[in-house]
Amino acid sequence: MGTLTGLFAPERVAVVGATDREGSVGRAILENLRSFDGDVVAVNPSRDEVLGEPCYDDLQGVPDPVDLAVVVVPAKYAIDVVRDAGEAGVTNVVVITAGFGETGGEGANREQELKAVAEEYDLNLVGPNCLGVMNTGVDMNATFGPEMALPGNISFMSQSGAFITAVLDWANDQNIGFKDVVSLGNKAVLDETDFVRSWGDDPDTDVVLGYLESIQDGREFIEAARDTTDDTPVVVVKSGRTDAGAKAASSHTGAIAGSEAAYEAGLEQAGVLRAESVQELFDSARALSGQPLPETDEVAVITNAGGPGVMATDAIGDSSLSLASFTEDTLDRLKAEMPDEANIYNPVDAIGDADIERFETAIDIVLDDPNVAAAVVVSAPTAVLDYGDLAEVVVDRQADHGKPLLTCLMGGERTGAAAETLREAGIPNYFDPARAVDSIDALARYRRIRDTDYEAATEFDVDREAAREVLEQAKVRDDNRLGVEAMELLDAYGIPTPEGAVVDSPAEAVQTAADIDGPVVMKIVSPDILHKSDIGGVKVGVETDDVYDAFEDLITRARNYQPDANILGVQVQEMVDLDEGTETIVGVNRDPQFGPLVLFGLGGIFVEVLEDTTLRVAPVSEPEAREMIDDIQAAPLLRGARGRTPADVDSVVETIQRLSQLVTDFPQILELDINPLVAGPDGVQAVDIRLTVDTEDL
Ligand code: ADP
Ligand code: MG
Repeated sequence: MGTLTGLFAPERVAVVGATDREGSVGRAILENLRSFDGDVVAVNPSRDEVLGEPCYDDLQGVPDPVDLAVVVVPAKYAIDVVRDAGEAGVTNVVVITAGFGETGGEGANREQELKAVAEEYDLNLVGPNCLGVMNTGVDMNATFGPEMALPGNISFMSQSGAFITAVLDWANDQNIGFKDVVSLGNKAVLDETDFVRSWGDDPDTDVVLGYLESIQDGREFIEAARDTTDDTPVVVVKSGRTDAGAKAASSHTGAIAGSEAAYEAGLEQAGVLRAESVQELFDSARALSGQPLPETDEVAVITNAGGPGVMATDAIGDSSLSLASFTEDTLDRLKAEMPDEANIYNPVDAIGDADIERFETAIDIVLDDPNVAAAVVVSAPTAVLDYGDLAEVVVDRQADHGKPLLTCLMGGERTGAAAETLREAGIPNYFDPARAVDSIDALARYRRIRDTDYEAATEFDVDREAAREVLEQAKVRDDNRLGVEAMELLDAYGIPTPEGAVVDSPAEAVQTAADIDGPVVMKIVSPDILHKSDIGGVKVGVETDDVYDAFEDLITRARNYQPDANILGVQVQEMVDLDEGTETIVGVNRDPQFGPLVLFGLGGIFVEVLEDTTLRVAPVSEPEAREMIDDIQAAPLLRGARGRTPADVDSVVETIQRLSQLVTDFPQILELDINPLVAGPDGVQAVDIRLTVDTEDL
């Protein structure tokens, strides 16, 4: 993919499939392109003239170089047209035409063909099945939507074209402007990763917004977004969060939606601000495009209305922000300036009779406080206060102090002109105090993202060959499931396991147990028995004298459970201290979009009951592994709550990373569970393992 400058800021655009037929897409695009700063040429072999302009038979016949071709021909001609673009040296192509992957069958094949042609000529291809692209810098509306965006510093990509038309209609009303707008369509070539990357390098894009139903390549998206968010925030609404929503999305654009949990982890790791609703998407966008970032998470509230002030305070409590505590100096100044009935502590209540001078003084003193990083002005209408004056004071004070200042000038008609004044200065005004607080929260979250230094995953010294040999057992046995007989896989990757061996006679069991100090644990080993303890297949604390009988009993139980079970033997294992240790789980799953996901949580029998787990996309770096521990609710248990000896958390962190390396090295591992990984004060012990491998791929 080349640079996308020619896509968004071309000098000459060709519309292939141009026509003057009323109501056609071809005509709508030509009309939308009338205001374009550059040249527009019409291409259509069955016309000599379109809307009074000359029309060419094909792109190769256009005498001047074309930077962007917009294709609106019927699907069956689209491939030929794209090839013609390649031959004519046109590098940017927007395929509006539908009838590709979204229809399945023949359409899917056509999309493959389209992709191949685009690759052959190295085309920047948008679509197919999309609304088009816009750029306000050159007044280009290469879409068939009814409205052009207003100029601004937000660039917006959407997997739904209809959503773009709806958003623009609303945004124009709200005076929200855009720089680039792109309808992603089926994402045959260019996808969200390409746009996130390209807007990261664009000085005119201050905020990237996305409406996404799927992400093509999760890991690539994470890398691109991390680069971009160094100086440009990325806010995304990802739809299809529920199972029903995901199904609707996959039939909508032919995208295979990955699991919601994978998206949640992946977007977080990418440094993307995830908005839960369209309202939140644009609230965040407005704050990010108009306000500076708060240096800390400490927020102040200044109000003339007790109730709404408390609502703002509650919202702060629900967010990642905190209520700033003022310095002595601030309190002294407020005390001197405010009436006795006022509340000078945060939230500052200048009370109902506050006029503009009192408001201004309060705002000034509060923003002067070094403990205050941002503030919300919450006000109810009163007879002694003019909202127009208040808006001007807010704009003025914000500019003077350079700290984010958002407003809730509550009311209806009365707020109209004031909100306009605020908007022009980049200050969002809301009715609901919670929305103002959430917008400051987005600013603070973005500051934390921007300040994050992403570390590469640690490369441990491991024995890959030994691991491969263990995995090959599955191929030899022609069964893709492996259990405790694969314990050496963990040894090869430096994950500690208790002493032990798989034996196939009672005598051998006795011998193995004799080499181990104290009582042992014995487990049935069979790929047909996935949950060993469910059938009484795990015996804990077996004394030396009982080992012989225990062996026979385990085999009998397995036979009773499933007469034709493939029994590989019995594992005799050293006991691990469960009084001092906590049973945790580390596991791996594969997601079609994000690849291997590493899971960590409370293990043993609790895993299904409590579901206290967290996920990351692999490879997992050290700081990410450490975060995973704090993510789970049982973290205090590991950190030594209620007089427990703290577990060796560093060993858990290392195990997560080593497992992440194992599944990154071996894509053949489809699923893997270490449950339990016993985390004790002296380190970890992987006591049980279960995995599924793709034997075809070994
Ligand atoms: P499964 O999960 O198939 O039932 P496990 O090997 O995980 O089998 O054993 C079940 C439970 O038995 C573990 O969660 C743990 O509580 C206990 N256990 C297993 N192995 C040991 C061991 N070596 N030391 C102490 N307890 C063990
Ligand atoms: Mg287990």
